[in-house]
Amino acid sequence: MLQLQSFVFNDFQENTYVIWDESLQCAIIDPGCANATEQKMLTDFIATKQLQPSLLLNTHCHIDHILGNIFIAEKYQLALHLHEGELFTYKDTDRWAAMFGLPKFEIPEKLVFIEENQEIKLGNTGLKTLFTPGHSIASLSFYEPLSHTLIAGDALFYESIGRTDLPGGNQDRLFQSIKNVIFTLPDETKVYSGHGPITSVGHEKKFNPYVGILS
Ligand SMILES: [Zn+2]
Repeated sequence: MLQLQSFVFNDFQENTYVIWDESLQCAIIDPGCANATEQKMLTDFIATKQLQPSLLLNTHCHIDHILGNIFIAEKYQLALHLHEGELFTYKDTDRWAAMFGLPKFEIPEKLVFIEENQEIKLGNTGLKTLFTPGHSIASLSFYEPLSHTLIAGDALFYESIGRTDLPGGNQDRLFQSIKNVIFTLPDETKVYSGHGPITSVGHEKKFNPYVGILS
């Protein structure tokens, strides 16, 4: 069964996730670790649990979700898995980096492009990729039905939704992603967002203030 650990990293309070199953192979999703202390927290956790990193995944490539990409790709010799459309977002982060006084962003050397409705293997577990754009141009969510787990990036938050004012953002597309993709999952689906606390599909259908606009 899928297990999950979250970390809150960098000045944007971004949620980084490590997921694994009984094979002990793990995926690192949106590594936001931005300094040596945060990098050590993540690698110490992986070492203590004796996990074998086998996947590096991005839901999308805003600056706060990719700060640790190069570190993780090099440390564990992993290819970065992302939707090809997110290269647009990745390149835009250079502009952001300059705004925040951060160094230029390299893109990891090895890339694997993933598409919607693909199944990605992690040990004995299959992760389904769902196309949930709107917050960024080609955001993906990762869904594991047996454990009712959805890693939703910044599409949906606890009683809120992702911002759509950044390049590639589009509110109508985000509403479609939430209504036609995320809200079709079972109510008990736990939603792990890119920021803030865990929520569920059922909770958001009931209490998300945007639902009125969505329906
Ligand atoms: Zn974002």
